[in-house]
Amino acid sequence: MRLSNLLAPTLRETPAEAEIASHQLMLRAGLMRKVAAGIYTFLPLGHRAVSNVERIIREEMDRAGAQELRLPIVQPAELWEETGRWAAYGEEMWRVKDRHGRLFCLGPTHEEIVTDLVRNEVSSYRQLPINLYQIQFKYRDEIRPRFGVMRAREFVMKDAYSFHRDEASLHETYARMYEAYWRIFTRCGLDFRPVLADSGAIGGSYTHEFCALADAGEAALVHCDACGYAANVERAEAAPAEPRPAGATPPGPAERVATPGVRSIPELAAFLGVEAQETAKTLFFWSIHGDGRQELLAVLVRGDRDVNEVKLKNHLGALHVQMAGADEVREKCGVPVGFAGPVGLKGVRLLADVEVMAAPALVVGANAEDAHLRNVQPGRDFSPGAVLDLRLVGPGDACPECGAPLQGRRGIEVGQVFMLGTKYSEAMGATFLDEHGQARPVIMGCYGIGVTRTVAAVIEQHHDADGIVWPASVAPYQAVVVPVNVQEEAQRRAAEDIYRGLQAAGVEAVLDDRDERPGVKFKDADLVGFPFRVTVGKTLAEGQVEVTDRRTRETRRVPLPEAAAAVRERLAAALAGLDPDRRPFTPWSASPAERATAGARERV
Ligand code: ATP
Ligand code: MG
Repeated sequence: MRLSNLLAPTLRETPAEAEIASHQLMLRAGLMRKVAAGIYTFLPLGHRAVSNVERIIREEMDRAGAQELRLPIVQPAELWEETGRWAAYGEEMWRVKDRHGRLFCLGPTHEEIVTDLVRNEVSSYRQLPINLYQIQFKYRDEIRPRFGVMRAREFVMKDAYSFHRDEASLHETYARMYEAYWRIFTRCGLDFRPVLADSGAIGGSYTHEFCALADAGEAALVHCDACGYAANVERAEAAPAEPRPAGATPPGPAERVATPGVRSIPELAAFLGVEAQETAKTLFFWSIHGDGRQELLAVLVRGDRDVNEVKLKNHLGALHVQMAGADEVREKCGVPVGFAGPVGLKGVRLLADVEVMAAPALVVGANAEDAHLRNVQPGRDFSPGAVLDLRLVGPGDACPECGAPLQGRRGIEVGQVFMLGTKYSEAMGATFLDEHGQARPVIMGCYGIGVTRTVAAVIEQHHDADGIVWPASVAPYQAVVVPVNVQEEAQRRAAEDIYRGLQAAGVEAVLDDRDERPGVKFKDADLVGFPFRVTVGKTLAEGQVEVTDRRTRETRRVPLPEAAAAVRERLAAALAGLDPDRRPFTPWSASPAERATAGARERV
């Protein structure tokens, strides 16, 4: 491709609407343009990068035994009504009507469509397992589309769905998909971590998110360097609480203290001269259920902790939970929110975090304005309706598997693997006959990758002040040939020769044949981020050209006839660095001890 003819409009200025590097660079390097909020056109360079990620995904999906198909984007409401998700999906679902007034949606995901296919076409255990995937646009009317294609309303997803006769078969495919994801993101050049993630209220399921590590990521992660435990904080379990020391002197009776105007935990700790962890706070939430039921709840956690709303929601089997307002709490329970406490609290169910119950004595609100209680002993002075792990785990907390301190990172969720079980097959009657002729629901798994989000994540991790620094596997073109002055016949001809030589050598190359100043050409080459640049300039007089590595900036002179081979050689080395067979792999099922040593196990 010749740059004079390529629709690759680069921008010198950073567009004001773009907050993070990948969004800025995707616009500046001419990869995409915005059409509406969360909706983008991919220009030729952007399209090639997306296609490269798609190719890597296809190769690894096929290798893992999945079969590609194409399901419709436009999906009838009736199928979604069978699973109850037509109502439950909410505002994020993009709904459309046909000319007859029939309701459809633009697929946000495809469990219903694919389960419908399988219930019609698969009837015997002999046809299982089966793993079906597609790469296609998805539509989600996100409340806050942002960061370009990172959170878009139209985006490309690879989604796969597997169907099984038993749990063992599901586990086998899950492990295979987990490894395929490991290979895909390695090949894309991402620094990523698979983390345990929240599987919602569906009991017994298991799920991992694959997160590209980046400060701009929306996901908060914790991981343990000692044993390899890694989880999204939404999911991270707390380590068992230290039990209350046996024989510890019981506190005196609960005692009321005046705390005028002291509403926050730091204020309370300072006012009474205690540590925040010697206090407990009582928070109020509404739980909202699928059947429209709402319940007010009080949740007790240590003063220095936060409530994990996902754990709370899952425990309650609620659609979601939200903080209750002070007026609502006063009306229902007759207590002022800043001074609420578990002792004598009425009109509401009380849930307590395990750690609170292990404390010897606590300072809590007295359920009266400007007053707290101290020497409150959990179990003696109050008894919650349920005691469970409800707190948000963060960096510095003990690892739930080995006790070492956890580290914190941020990540971009680029993919997720999920054991679904029989949620969809039972709702839709997707059954098979087992070897005894008995009808049973198929057991399912599903596996998504955000393809366009992956391209953004790659840029987020691979850029510098001058532009994108593509990994060779994803780069829209692997090399650019730059004649410094196209008016000079010798330079122009040499550049043409190298360009053809690169194509013959299997290197995807562009020729910058534009009649532009060299500074402009070099700036564009850096901004677009071609991994290798061949510069044909002054050194041509000595029969030499320059080959520059975008990542290291290292420039080497090579004789003109060897230029294409030199690029091919360096490209091969760059691609070898992304080869998943040369990288250590940690399987998901490994025990903590196995995970700790897996990094050392090269699988060449
Ligand atoms: P998120 O929590 O980020 O909204 P999700 O859990 O809703 O993601 P899935 O339903 O698991 O996402 O979709 C599979 C993959 O699709 C995700 O791992 C992510 O990479 C990608 N994805 C999801 N929503 C978007 C979006 N709005 N824009 C771009 N990619 C997305
Ligand atoms: Mg989402």
